[in-house]
This record gives sequence, structure tokens and C-alpha cells, in this order.
Amino acid sequence: MKLRNASTRPRLILRLLPLLAIAAPIHAAPAQITFGLGQDSGFATKTTPAPATNDAAANATFKVIAGTPDPNSAPLAALHDGKIPRSEDEPGSNFFFNGGGRVLVDLGKPTDVASIATYSWHPGARAAQNYAVYAADEAAKNFNPQPGAGVQPAEVGWQLLAKVDTSGNKPGQHAVCITPGSGKSFGKFQRVLFDIQTNPKAQGFSDTFFSEIDIVDANGPTLERVKIPKRITAVFTSKDKNFHYTLDVSEAPDLQEWCGKNLIPVLEDWYPKIIGLIPVTGVTPSHEITFTLKDMTLLPGHMDGVPAYASGNSVVFNAKFMRDQQTGEAIGAGIHEIVHVVQFGSGQGKRNRPRSGGQPPTWVTEGVADYIRWFLYEPQSKGAEITTRNVGRAKYDDSYRTTANFFDWVIKNHEKDLMRKLNIATHDGYTEQLWKDWTGKTLQELGADWKKANMERLGVKG
Ligand SMILES: [Zn+2]
Repeated sequence: MKLRNASTRPRLILRLLPLLAIAAPIHAAPAQITFGLGQDSGFATKTTPAPATNDAAANATFKVIAGTPDPNSAPLAALHDGKIPRSEDEPGSNFFFNGGGRVLVDLGKPTDVASIATYSWHPGARAAQNYAVYAADEAAKNFNPQPGAGVQPAEVGWQLLAKVDTSGNKPGQHAVCITPGSGKSFGKFQRVLFDIQTNPKAQGFSDTFFSEIDIVDANGPTLERVKIPKRITAVFTSKDKNFHYTLDVSEAPDLQEWCGKNLIPVLEDWYPKIIGLIPVTGVTPSHEITFTLKDMTLLPGHMDGVPAYASGNSVVFNAKFMRDQQTGEAIGAGIHEIVHVVQFGSGQGKRNRPRSGGQPPTWVTEGVADYIRWFLYEPQSKGAEITTRNVGRAKYDDSYRTTANFFDWVIKNHEKDLMRKLNIATHDGYTEQLWKDWTGKTLQELGADWKKANMERLGVKG
């Protein structure tokens, strides 16, 4: 038996060889790339399905191995959480680089990759996708599992599956589905690499807002698709018909009534007031604001979520925070955020580039928002007091309410028009020299005087 087997083996191999020779070029056949353009259809288009929620990428490990994520980008988890943004310009729901980069996906085990899909959404240049996708099975001798910037993946054991460039299409929801040119799968791979470039037809902000990446296992479960969320919105128009506010409570319908009765009327009242308080010639704050309540408000560096944030003329509230704080901080947090909308100005969510100097540091912009909240909107709450408990560690640039307290002191003692002047500096350029110009004292001197005044008032010895 053994002998016979051995003698037939060479013949068998000879017979198989021509088959293998044919099979190789078939696998190398160019991938088929299907593009779909949607507007607000949950990424389902005539040609492409909505993102899957149980594909092989859902439990994969994603890692940046080249490039730098934009500071406003969502964490990488946004790429495979099976969730999609609710609106067209949501930095907090999309992953995006600052100048391109590489994302490595480790599927955890060799996987028969049947298809790859990438989804992005933006009203402008950040909708377009421009990337090359590679896969590897680690068989190559010179295999590099993490080819960083400047390393050609194809030279270190990676197989190019497809090159994608959707920049020739209108903005909106871009859906790309990549399937093998023939056969049921690209082959067995554990690692998939996305080499992501900026939109080649744009300048400035041109890194793609990637909303979701799917990698489908040919032997995986039947795919479940993201359900298009039903949107529950209400539009409020100011009495003078000048301002429009959209309230989106799709993720928190239970808060619709409370927001309509308690939150929106206060913000409606205060938004024009704040515009009047910190006007900048040539800068028009948006006349429309969207307030969205969300279950998750994750921002980089805030993995547990933030109570609220503003981006352009969009304000997002954490639904749980608003529910818990109805009689506490909810409305004050809203005032803080609409100050940011006024600071952003121009109505398009774009800050003007300063003419000289730079953008003010974050502690200044946050201090302005908290000054208006704590000292003008709700002074009775005394939420930004310096007390014996916190005076010891208080610093003028601690941001938020401590800085708000410092600003209040500067306003009372040196410069009544500080809020407006700081907002002008947001647009025309900020330097520390401005403090000396306005008050005759340096920022550090002012900070020390403020601290000393508080220590004396409280009878605390330095
Ligand atoms: Zn803020």
C-alpha cells in the first residue's frame, strides 16, 4: 500500500499543476468596486447595502500604524461599532486622520475575506474616500506585520486588494463595496490594512470622515444591517422669525417635552443676547442651531462621554446627563454650548483664521463660555465661586469655572469689555500681549493679583 501510494503521488502533482497555474491569475483578477451615493438613507443606496453590524470587523482589533488622527476625530471604535452618524457633519461619530494615515485591522484569526465595505459621510470634501486596501496571511518570508509610513506594503508581504478613489462624486454618503474579481473570497487573511490618503481634489480639510468599515467573512453568520434610525425632530422659530432651532430627540424621545418646554425657550432667549454681548465685525453667527440628544457623547480623551459639546452650529447633549440634570446643570450646560456656537461664528461652523497671533488657548474660550453661563445666566447658583476649599489650588488658566471667576475679577477691576475683546481676539488673533494692552498688567500679574484678592477675601494665608 505504502509503496503504491508513493509511486502515484508524482503523477497526481503533475496533473494538479496546470490547475494551480490557472487558479493564480483568477485570484489576481482586479477587484470589483461598487460605489453608492446616498444623502440621508442610512448608507443604503441603490447599489450598496447599509453597513453590517455582525461582520468580521465588528470584533476585530483596529490600530493606527501611520499618521495622526485628527484631534476632533472619534476614537477608532467608531469604525466598527455598527453605528452610523445621524447627520452629515458629525466629527464625534467618524474617524478621520489629519493628513492621511494607515489603519491596521487584525481579524484575530485567518478569515476568508468575501468583501470589504467602507462608509463615509460629509457635506463637503471629507466625504470622498481615497485609499488602498491590502491583506496579509503572514506567509511571506519578509512579512512586516505593521508596515509604517514610507514602507510599501506590497514589498513586505502584503497583497493589494483594491485601490479606491470616490473623489469624482458629489459629497454625501459614500458607500464602497469591494468584492473579488472572481470567486467567493479574496483568500484567507488575518490582517487587513487601509492606506488612507486625503481627497486628491481638495485642499485644506480633506481627510475622509469614515463612519464604518465592514470586512465580511465568507463563512460568517448571515449579515445583519444597520437599521435606519427614525428621526424625531421639532423645529422652533424665534418670535422675530430670525432664528431657527432644530431639536433632535431621536435617541431620547422621553426628553422631547421637557426640552420643548424648558430648554429651548431659555436658549432661544439667550442666543441673540450672547450674540449682542460678544459681537465681531464681519462675523455672523449662525441663525440656525441643531440640538441633538445622544445616548453616547464620546470625544477623544473623554472615553466616558461628555455632558455636551458644540461643533459649528450643532450642539450635542448627552441624553442621560440631561435626564439626570433637569433641575440641575442641564440648561446651564446649554448656555455654555451656545456661547461656543457664537464663538465659531460665520454660520458654517468654520472659524475665521486669525489675521495675526493665534487662536486663543482652550482655557480662554472655555472660560468665556463659563463666564457667560455662571456670571450672567445663573449668577444665583454661585457655581463658579472661589472658596476656602479650592482657593489654594486655583489658577487663572484652570479653564471653565475657575477661569470664569478670574475673568469676572478682571471685568470688575480692569476691563469691562473683556468678553467682547476676547471674542474679537478669537477671530483676529490672540497673543498674551493683549492683556497688557487692555489692563496695563501682564496675564501672570493679573492671575497673581486675582489669587491674592481671593486669599485676602477668604482670610487664607498664602
Ligand atoms: Zn466648552
